[in-house]
Amino acid sequence: MAVVITIDGPSGAGKGTVCARLAEQLGWHLLDSGALYRITGLAASRKQIALDDDAAVAAVAAALDVHFEPLATGVQVMLEGENVTDTIRTEKVGSLASQVAALPAVRAALLQRQRDFRLTPGLIADGRDMGTVVFPNAEVKVFLTASAEERGRRRYEQLLDKGFNASLPALIEDIRARDDRDSNRAVAPLKPADDAITIDSTELTIDQVCEHVADLVRK
Ligand code: C5P
Repeated sequence: MAVVITIDGPSGAGKGTVCARLAEQLGWHLLDSGALYRITGLAASRKQIALDDDAAVAAVAAALDVHFEPLATGVQVMLEGENVTDTIRTEKVGSLASQVAALPAVRAALLQRQRDFRLTPGLIADGRDMGTVVFPNAEVKVFLTASAEERGRRRYEQLLDKGFNASLPALIEDIRARDDRDSNRAVAPLKPADDAITIDSTELTIDQVCEHVADLVRK
């Protein structure tokens, strides 16, 4: 079976960039599992389905017509033929994602779809429960974290770069609220797998984190 490296952690720790870079360097497949929850939240809200209706949202998740194209910076996401790559990255869709991600039937509906990404020569799996639930037998498991202040600051700079106005304290507050929801939910709470190696990226550059993970893969 293909080798899997799981990289889990809270939002803004740098997982997306690190995973995209590693997948490109190694020539491996990339699973952006957060994108699946974001697409599910977006599709359900477009169909005006209540985001706490587990069975109805799970039906949407099971029937998603979604297509991923790898890009150097991540993945291009097509939903029913529409390019939703930028739409799903907004804070609003992030919040929809985190609501539907708390529903057990939705998580179950997305499980096999995620496992299907395990293709030769290997897979980099980015998410919250990659090492704990989706790929419990992964060869290398990383838990990538950083302080909420640093994650807020990174998000703030990304938004400014894109020409958006943002409030740093409000972003840090949002990040804390999302962490709290993701860590305290009943299903698949955000936590490191018992056999994961934790990397704190607060004071590291992306290059340093990639080097650290690449070292683990080489071992
Ligand atoms: O990683 P990203 O910020 O795109 O994920 C969006 C939301 O989807 C997270 O806040 C989390 O609630 C949920 N998620 C999850 N399990 C995953 C990936 C994402 O619950 N494996």
